[in-house]
Amino acid sequence: MKRSFLLLASVALCISTAMAQAVHQPTIGKTAIRLYNQPAHRTEIILPQVKGYNIYKGDFHVHTIYSDGEVTPRERVREAWYDGLDIIAITDHLELRSYEKFMLKAHAPYNPDGKPYEYIRGGAGNKKDPTTPIYCDLDATYDEARSYVEKEEIPIMVVRGTEIWRNARTTGEYNAFFLKDITDVAKPDIIESLKEAKSQGAIIIHNHPGWRRKTMDKSEDQVKIYEQKLVDGIEVVNGLNLYPQMIDRCVEEDLTIFANTDCHRTSAQYFPRGGEIFRTMTFIMAKECTEKAIKEALLKRRTIGYSHNHLIGEQMWLEEFLNAAVECKVVAVNEKKGHRAFQLTNHCSVPFILRRGKTIYTLNPFQSLRVNFGKNKETGKYSNPTFQVDNMWTVGDKHPKMVIEIDK
Ligand SMILES: [Zn+2]
Repeated sequence: MKRSFLLLASVALCISTAMAQAVHQPTIGKTAIRLYNQPAHRTEIILPQVKGYNIYKGDFHVHTIYSDGEVTPRERVREAWYDGLDIIAITDHLELRSYEKFMLKAHAPYNPDGKPYEYIRGGAGNKKDPTTPIYCDLDATYDEARSYVEKEEIPIMVVRGTEIWRNARTTGEYNAFFLKDITDVAKPDIIESLKEAKSQGAIIIHNHPGWRRKTMDKSEDQVKIYEQKLVDGIEVVNGLNLYPQMIDRCVEEDLTIFANTDCHRTSAQYFPRGGEIFRTMTFIMAKECTEKAIKEALLKRRTIGYSHNHLIGEQMWLEEFLNAAVECKVVAVNEKKGHRAFQLTNHCSVPFILRRGKTIYTLNPFQSLRVNFGKNKETGKYSNPTFQVDNMWTVGDKHPKMVIEIDK
């Protein structure tokens, strides 16, 4: 448990209390009395520093009205900030742009004959001829979101991305982000699209690997895509769906674990807002929130997936996370009874479900619990608190067993 982290958390609490007191002042305008000033409430998700890294919160899979989503790029980034995120990649489909047909119809009165222009489904979305040109700017969504956060001074990193999709059953679907030009990625062939994304320095992840499929094994096309080293990570959680076998694949094939929402509607439709459960997200352990540091962290697999208060990752990072978040103190030593009493305090926003045999303890955010542990029968020495953490998932479809270190 890091002292600096404790200090930071208490400063954050003080600031939020001060702000909460300041907002109840009604202001009187010339014609209206404002009954209440609704401030922009951001959900602050307090997470520990792990091995000297800060944890940043990212969602690398969301859609807007410019593909098949139902919100604008502006609302997406504003919502991401409200939801406590630091990074968001807008990943509209390359092949699916539902708004095109609608806009042609809506703008028909501008045309001399008042009739809409013919809708031409360009690019790989056109099954008959994927070489058909695309008559729109695929980068416009990102540009709008990016210029909006700059203008409104919203402190969130917006990443240029796209979802590359041909056939859910055969090719699977991939998100490429940290792109330089989305339009250039729109190639008729999926491998060419992924190669172009790679050449732009993008990170590519395999989305919802079990979607519309009966097996988690790689299809023939997926084998080719993986073999050409075009995949950097896997969406082990999509929305609220966990693909546990994919944790094993990530470890075996040196790939990064991701958890994303794939939001098409507002996030509040899928996840509660302002409560104790947050939207699905990827925790990224990085030195700072810059493109370079985040990319480095993602390529070095320093991530933990978060979904509905479950944590998904490699045992080593989960263990580091638990020990960084939980302060463990010996509060009594009872030689007569042969046990030590511990106080465990959770200093982060995520609860831990700790199982010891048949007993389950819930260590809620910013609460403490007391627990006794006796001596190890073999060594005769006092043991540290040891639990199976039921809301953590790691390799082998398992909840990891962990020792909580005593803080000095
Ligand atoms: Zn999607």
